[in-house]
Amino acid sequence: MARADGGLGSLNAFCNSPRHPGRPYYSTPPARRRGRRQGEASMKRFGRTVLWLGLLWILTAAPALAGSVVQARCDCGYHSGQLLIFGGKSNFQSVCWFPAYCPGVKEVLLINMYQTPLASPGCTEAQPLPYDHPSLVGKPGRHPIAGWSTKDRIGRNLVLTNGTYLCPVCGQKTLRFFPTGMWD
Ligand SMILES: [Zn+2]
Repeated sequence: MARADGGLGSLNAFCNSPRHPGRPYYSTPPARRRGRRQGEASMKRFGRTVLWLGLLWILTAAPALAGSVVQARCDCGYHSGQLLIFGGKSNFQSVCWFPAYCPGVKEVLLINMYQTPLASPGCTEAQPLPYDHPSLVGKPGRHPIAGWSTKDRIGRNLVLTNGTYLCPVCGQKTLRFFPTGMWD
């Protein structure tokens, strides 16, 4: 018994001796300390795994989860309502709404870019032109305000920028799109 507790006991006694005040050198037995350290490490590993899974989920699922809500406004006073563009959770495979211009129609329309030929119930006399068409762009924007990964479906990604576009009401390239939210 004296032998078993000799090493640690005498060490504690040494550290707690008046010459060496303070906490015992081993405040917890070595085995428990090691156990706690292993516990912390496995918690960190678990946290990291959760983080990676979360990131993976966001990367793979985000395009399928939420389309963008944008609004078009022009200096002339025209403003569209809330435009729900791209796709939602349930229809992103078959639907990709995008703002379009139709000659003679004094509002921004929405067309399904996955539908060919491009058409809109509000544009029967002509073919609607999606708003990423170069002829509709005034001052090219430097920053995208909404985008959708559609290259594998239609050969290009759909992007609206903070630039200016042709206004269906005044005919000037002073229309701008503003992001107002998300939808799914
Ligand atoms: Zn205008």
